[in-house]
Amino acid sequence: MSQACAENSTQNSTPASQSKPHLWGQRVSDLTETLLAMGVPEKKARYHSHQIFRWIYERKVSSYEEMTDISKLAREALAEKFDITPPLTVATAQTSIDGTRKFLFRLHDGNTVESVLIPANNGEADETTSRLTICISSQVGCAMGCKFCLTASMGLLRNLRVEEIVGQVLELSKAADITNIVFMGMGEPLHNLENVCRAVEILLSQYGMGFSKRKVTVSTSGLVPAIRKMNARLSRENRVNLAISLNGSFNEQREAVMPVNEAFPIEELLDACREFTLEPYRRITFEYVMMGGLNDTTEDAARVLKLLDGIPSKVNLIPYNPHPASPFRRSEDGDVETFKRFLLDRGVAAMVRHSRGRDILAACGQLKSAEDARAAVN
Ligand code: SF4
Repeated sequence: MSQACAENSTQNSTPASQSKPHLWGQRVSDLTETLLAMGVPEKKARYHSHQIFRWIYERKVSSYEEMTDISKLAREALAEKFDITPPLTVATAQTSIDGTRKFLFRLHDGNTVESVLIPANNGEADETTSRLTICISSQVGCAMGCKFCLTASMGLLRNLRVEEIVGQVLELSKAADITNIVFMGMGEPLHNLENVCRAVEILLSQYGMGFSKRKVTVSTSGLVPAIRKMNARLSRENRVNLAISLNGSFNEQREAVMPVNEAFPIEELLDACREFTLEPYRRITFEYVMMGGLNDTTEDAARVLKLLDGIPSKVNLIPYNPHPASPFRRSEDGDVETFKRFLLDRGVAAMVRHSRGRDILAACGQLKSAEDARAAVN
């Protein structure tokens, strides 16, 4: 892993096509401060910032003119300071036979990122749950170089800005009743830590979309210093779930698929997990992509069991979703079941999560790659 990967980047520069900061990237406290700096009296500044948040996130307005509750003067002053034009637009959308919907968003600078809407019920009529999870991106491309991941081949182009992260949820929530958010799309969220934390604060704000912290999960490939920073950075009310991409049961094996392990070996990663502040009854999720002949034996399961000893954890076993450029293959169903049973029988919550939307290239980076290839031949 390059030095650049190891460091937490707080890049939030304004793209050339945008001349000023964006309103969707502001937290309530940022807006209050801005209004105070404009000379608005404190009580009114607080009231207005809450109103603005409601207008954006409940009524989903995209122009200052629509914010009719706010004084014309304040609206004009805000328009001077903050852009409000949507920072991203849907370029393509596809629906899978299992109900998964995948969206490719185009950003101001022409780059694209993906979000996936994943219903809990395989698209079939099922009244037992109405869960609708959105999987969002945090970067254009990724620097982490995981060998099984298509996004890795793009390298890192840039961090997403706060409004581009929040915007994926805001845009899709206009059409869908999103209940859960996972930061597991393109990019390593903790490599864009500050913007991801700000986006979390906006998404959880009671004045806006008001997501429960229990319904939001930030995933990492294992950037140990950033896990510690996130632990210190997020206040109690914004303490969302943490997921770790484990994908290996010992260092050499994990290094073969995740170069980040060279800088931060499994033991250090798990130490950071043990230090991570968890509220009562909360657990860290360990994602384990199962690749045939690589990491899917009972011996691997036994090592995983030992590694997670003492960490409140649950394990998601994900049979690999192969793509043409990948040398890896999917584990046999029987091996996945044996692995799961081994952990369950020893008291570890383990479940199998099948890749969704396989017919529409829903694995990380696959829709973008297909779109890029199409653009190249057109
Ligand atoms: S799996 Fe995630 S962290 Fe690894 S290269 Fe792909 S996007 Fe980056």
